[in-house]
Amino acid sequence: MSAKELLKIMGENYTDAEKKLAQKAYDYAEKAHEGQMRISGDPYITHSLETAIILADMEMDINTIIAGLLHDTVEDGHCDYKDVKKEFGKDVAALVESLTKIRSIKYRGKERYIENLRKMLVAMAKDLRVIIVKLADRLHNLRTLDVLTKEKQQRTALESLEIYAPIAGLLGIWRLRWQIEDLCFKYLDPKNYQKIHEVYGIEKKEEREKYINEIRKIIEKEAKKEGIKCFVNGRFKHYYSIYQKMIKKEINFNEIHDVFALRVIVNDIPECYQVLGIIHKLWKPVRGGLKDYIAVPKPNGYQSLHTTVIGPGGKITEFQIRTKEMDTVAKFGIAAHYHYKTHGSDTNVKQSEWIKNILDLQKQYANEGEEFIKKLKMDVFKDRIFVFTPNNDVFDLPEGATAIDFAYRIHTNIGNKAMGAKINKKFDKLNTELKSGDIVEIVTDPNKKGPSRDWIKYAKTSNARAKIRRALSK
Ligand code: MN
Repeated sequence: MSAKELLKIMGENYTDAEKKLAQKAYDYAEKAHEGQMRISGDPYITHSLETAIILADMEMDINTIIAGLLHDTVEDGHCDYKDVKKEFGKDVAALVESLTKIRSIKYRGKERYIENLRKMLVAMAKDLRVIIVKLADRLHNLRTLDVLTKEKQQRTALESLEIYAPIAGLLGIWRLRWQIEDLCFKYLDPKNYQKIHEVYGIEKKEEREKYINEIRKIIEKEAKKEGIKCFVNGRFKHYYSIYQKMIKKEINFNEIHDVFALRVIVNDIPECYQVLGIIHKLWKPVRGGLKDYIAVPKPNGYQSLHTTVIGPGGKITEFQIRTKEMDTVAKFGIAAHYHYKTHGSDTNVKQSEWIKNILDLQKQYANEGEEFIKKLKMDVFKDRIFVFTPNNDVFDLPEGATAIDFAYRIHTNIGNKAMGAKINKKFDKLNTELKSGDIVEIVTDPNKKGPSRDWIKYAKTSNARAKIRRALSK
């Protein structure tokens, strides 16, 4: 065992001094865990190393990588913070301390789940890197779940699916989220996992790759004509998302038809729209299949153009068009905030509303731990509902919010042109109160002049009310 693999992954992205620090942290952790074994029989340090490798692969800042190496040293390796602080500085010591504090968070039923989630959010509010290390730690534990008893496998997988995957999603760290979800899926529902693997991973793989190659050539050629250099790759759809789609649409294995998905990476935003034009000229877009997340980013900062078209041979094909920077955010979400190369450009990161609220509260109640948690419960957590679009985008709204709030939350124009809502596929009035988990689609009328005056009564959010007033005063 050595730090070699980690240093190799750090490669050109980190300075020699930083790599030296990583080596030092590795040696420190190895000594701290000396003689300790994982249940698999591997030396304990393999776990610390793999955790750090996941973080280096995400190009996190050096202190996060060091915290990854040291994350179990205080609890298991009998080191203390003072010593860590002396060797690696205050920042690393604070990270390790927070990581030790949230170690015991476990899924034990709904009540405890909310309590635990809150603990995680508090830790997250202090320093998001704590959660990122925690997610990397959990991912490696899931990768090595095979050696545990069936019961422990189930418990760990359930807890990960209920707590860790949603947090990764909330933070937009797609790369960790899909890996966690697929591993949990494999242990919690091995039969369906295997079936999907057979269909998607084996049976249809070749057909899909051939088709994607064909499309790639066409787009690259057409883009070149307009002087655009783009990279096209087949987009990976993870098994758990395919499975959820099946459940939601109540279809079975015989009915899933492959959805072809591609990603186009270009240089700048104008080129994103140009490529969208090229794609729509080549193939007919599907009604309702266009989503402009560049003009209206998702709450976690995600940006891209999405379109679904009827591709060659009548195959339904999805595209995501984005710049390199947007691609980094899509993969790493909030972690891109600490991305090694973009470090220092903090102000440009659009944080999720949630995190923003938590950070604000944290500042406000910095010296009153209990009060902070109470406020967190009230302002951020307890009184929020989570409502989905048919595309699974999630919006958080205050309890009591109606379809009107939802419409304005999506886009001012959608609010102004709204005439009704489809809530869980059934038509309903706009003043219907929404519940957590509702799937809501706003039905609009392009000819509508604007909102009605009485909407102000039904809107619960100040955001919607302000927009209604503005539209009425025109
Ligand atoms: Mn660990």
